[in-house]
Order: sequence, then structure tokens, then C-alpha cells
Amino acid sequence: MNLTFQILSGAILRISVCGREVNMSKELVVVIDFGGQYNQLVARRVRECNVYCEIYSYKTDLEKIRAMRPRGIILTGGPNSCYEKNAPTCSPELFRLGVPVLGLCYGAQLMSLVLGGRVERADAKEYGKTEVHVDNASPLFADVPEDTICWMSHNDYIAQMAPGFRAIATTANCPVAAAECAEKRLYAIQFHPEVLHTVEGSKMLYNFVRGICGCGGDWRMDSFVEESVKNIREKVGEGKVLLALSGGVDSSVAAGLLSRAVGRQLTCVFVDHGLLRKNEGDEVEAIFGEGGQFDLHFIRVNAQQRYYGKLAGVTEPEKKRKIIGEEFIRVFEEEAKKIGTVDFLAQGTIYPDVVESGLGGESAVIKSHHNVGGLPDYVDFKEIIEPLRNLFKDEVRKVGLELGIPEKLVFRQPFPGPGLGVRIVGEVTAEKVRIVQDADAIYREEIANAGLDREMNQYFAALTNMRSVGVMGDERTYDYAVALRAVKTVDFMTAEAAEIPFEVLQKVMSRIINEVKGVNRVLYDLTSKPPGTIELE
Ligand code: GLN
Repeated sequence: MNLTFQILSGAILRISVCGREVNMSKELVVVIDFGGQYNQLVARRVRECNVYCEIYSYKTDLEKIRAMRPRGIILTGGPNSCYEKNAPTCSPELFRLGVPVLGLCYGAQLMSLVLGGRVERADAKEYGKTEVHVDNASPLFADVPEDTICWMSHNDYIAQMAPGFRAIATTANCPVAAAECAEKRLYAIQFHPEVLHTVEGSKMLYNFVRGICGCGGDWRMDSFVEESVKNIREKVGEGKVLLALSGGVDSSVAAGLLSRAVGRQLTCVFVDHGLLRKNEGDEVEAIFGEGGQFDLHFIRVNAQQRYYGKLAGVTEPEKKRKIIGEEFIRVFEEEAKKIGTVDFLAQGTIYPDVVESGLGGESAVIKSHHNVGGLPDYVDFKEIIEPLRNLFKDEVRKVGLELGIPEKLVFRQPFPGPGLGVRIVGEVTAEKVRIVQDADAIYREEIANAGLDREMNQYFAALTNMRSVGVMGDERTYDYAVALRAVKTVDFMTAEAAEIPFEVLQKVMSRIINEVKGVNRVLYDLTSKPPGTIELE
């Protein structure tokens, strides 16, 4: 259901972004990005402490950071060695702003180096879970047991602390696993408190932002809803807003929020491309359509046949994706034309999109960028509005619940942009869509019945392009094979096939064969990622 979302974030998103949305929280922690792989995680953990934070590139001007009046600054990890030429660095002035600073890994090393210590390549690198001994007299480690487990990932180490610092943690191989200069409120941690393997990591970050920085914790999703409703009203005034609603989590929550703010000044165009999961189109309509719980102007476009027509005879996966994307823009455009000029085009852009497209750091104004699938050239609007632009996915979900959007929608599994189009290997036809929808509905139902739905990160049925001989009721059949997929993953970058109990698989198999016409074989996909992908095409 990310169709609109992905296409929009690939295309419309880059038209114009009106800089930083008003930061509704009064307390801000700035996370300075040195390119580490867990940087978004750092920001998420801080937000879990109810403290608002934003990620900025290490290249960001110090004056800009000062002007934000942050309550604290966190320097992240990064792949470089800080003593190398051209390695990312920071001004020593950063440590003289009078604001508490916490350096993590690369950030810790850089802080030491910039303030006059020494960083060197270690004889033995440390990687993985490591026992650490902490001095819990330091406010950073308040309420942390003296001996605990941390997650290490470094080659370099702090060979000599900067003047004024003292070591507050050690491991067998690392004499300075953490250091502090309490007087200036500067802290350095060699390990990664942001990853869950660091058992007390969240507490350490809490101690920093709530204790050392003194943040009260004013970042809460209920007040976010209230305040953004107020801000949207101010911004939109009497204007008209148009939103492409895919039924995915982000655009749905954006719709809920905008509707709460401006009611029927909002028009949502929901394009049913016929590649949604079973009944999903109707479910979206039940929530957002006339008579549903939200006050807005809802337009459903039943473009199923149009899509099947365009997809007829197309087997190449990339081509299928492209057609589905382009067609979406065309359909959306046509509807927008009927509406005429709107003042705002709303989008469900969320914070990871902003960070990943490199916009978080320095750029306030992003130039228009015509790319993938074409832009809705004929949509006439004056400004973009992105009410979820500062939120992580888990925060978007909380907002969704605050708004009363059903849990079923809010906690939906990830669904590919091109929908079932990439879960049907080969040509897409109405019949194949029906088969995969029915098989998938049975599969999801049985997984839920077995209580396994929370154990897997993503699971679905797909349709292989294989037909094989079978026998049913003494008659020869020549039907399709359905593939069941289920994966466990943390970040969706790598994944393992989930071990589903055999009885559950058997039950699913027998129901699919019996209830779904056109299927005579059910296969379970054991492939991990890599070498496979999660989706089939
Ligand atoms: N590149 C630095 C090192 O190897 C920092 C690593 C990190 O930030 N994870 O020590």
C-alpha cells in the first residue's frame, strides 16, 4: 500500500520542501550525523525518552546549530578514523556552546581528538557484545549496574583522554569505554547505547537527555496531534488540500490528521488499482469514505480494469513496476484536474524519507526534481504540506491510534508499492489477482489463529508462474502453485525464512487447495535475503 507513498516520495516529494516544519516541541536535542549505520536509531531512542530531536549532517554550520538552542547535542558513530586527513570533523567551538555533548563511538573519538586527546588504531578491534564495567557515580550511568553488557563496533580507540576528562567505563580491551568531563558536561561513549544489545543503553541515553541535559520530556504524541491540528489550521486557512491516499499507514495517518484539522477542505483521492490485498479497498473506503469516522471529501477511483488492461501481456518485473507507478500518476492527475486548483498538495512523507534523501542536514530548500514515473504535471497546487515530516514510523503509528484509526490499519505489514503486481510472477491478470488475494487471506488468517502474527515481520502468499499436474476428485488438474513466504528480520535489509510449525503450514495448504479455485499446489519459500529478496519480483 505504499504505492502512492513510494511514488510520491520518489517524485512529488522533491518538488519543493518548505524547510523545517515548525518544531512543536520546545526542547530540542540535535543529533550530528557522522555517517554511522545506527544514526536513525540514536534519534529514535532519544524520542522514546519523550525528547524531540533532529538529525543534521556534521557539515551543518555551527551558527545554525547554536540558533536552534538545543538542550543537548549527540555526535554519532561513523565509518572513518578521525585522525585521518579529510575525516569528518567538528569545530572545537561546538564543545564551548555551554550545551551538554555526548559523543558515541566515532563521536567519542572525535571529541577526544578535537579537545586535545589522542586516538589510535587498536591492536585488537572490538566487535559485538562485550562486558563493560561502569562507574555509576557518573550521572551518565545513574541506576546502571556496575557490570553490564554493551555493543562494541570499533577499530580505533581513545589512547589518551583530552585534558579534564576521566574514564568512567572500561572493558577488557578498552581502557576508555566511556569518559566524562563533568564540569563542562561533555561525555564520550565508545560503545553503542542505541542498539538493543547494549542492555542498559536506553537508560544511558535517558540519563543524558533527561538527566544531564535537563529535558522535561515534552515530546508526546497526544500533544503532537493537538498542536499539529492547530498549525495545519493556521497554515491552510480557508484553502483546499488534496491528498493521494493509498491506504498505507503514512498516507492514512496524514489523512486522519488533516481531516481533524480542516475537515471537508480536504479531498482524498484513493486509487484502487486492483492490486491490493483482499477487501482492502473496501476497508479503506469504510474508514475514510462517506459515513466513515472522518470528515473529509473522499473520492475512490476504481481503476482495476484499467490497470489490468495496461498490464496484459507484460511479464518483465521492472516494466510492470513502471506501468503501475506511471498509471497511478495518470489516474491521480485526472482526478485532480476535475477538482481544479488546490492550495495544498499533502503528502505522507515521514522523517526517515527526509533523512535518507539527505535533506535532513543542510538543505532547507530542495529544488524541483522530475523523476521516476513522471510527476503529476497537471496538478495545480501552490504549496506542499507534509504533516508527518518529522515523525518516525513508530510515532506515525501512535498518532494514528490517537486519531482513532483502527489498529488493523495502523499496524499493517509492509506492503510493496506496486502491490500484488510483484507477488504475481509473470503476467498479471484479474484471475491471478483473485487467486493470490484469496490464498493470502487464508494464510494470514491461519497465521493469526496460530498466534504467530507477532513473531514474523512479514508474511504473505504469492503466485508463482508455474502450473503443474495434479489430481482432484479423480480428475486431472493443471493449475497454479502458490508460494507462501514468511520472514524474520530486524531492518528488512537481511532476512531469514521463519520456521512455521508444520501443522500450520499443512492447514494453510489444505485450505488453499480446497477453497481457492485454480490452485493445486502450495510451496513454502525457504530462501533468505540475500540471496533472495523478500518479495518475489
Ligand atoms: N571508525 C571508527 C572506528 O573504527 C568508529 C566506528 C564507529 O563509529 N562505529 O573505531
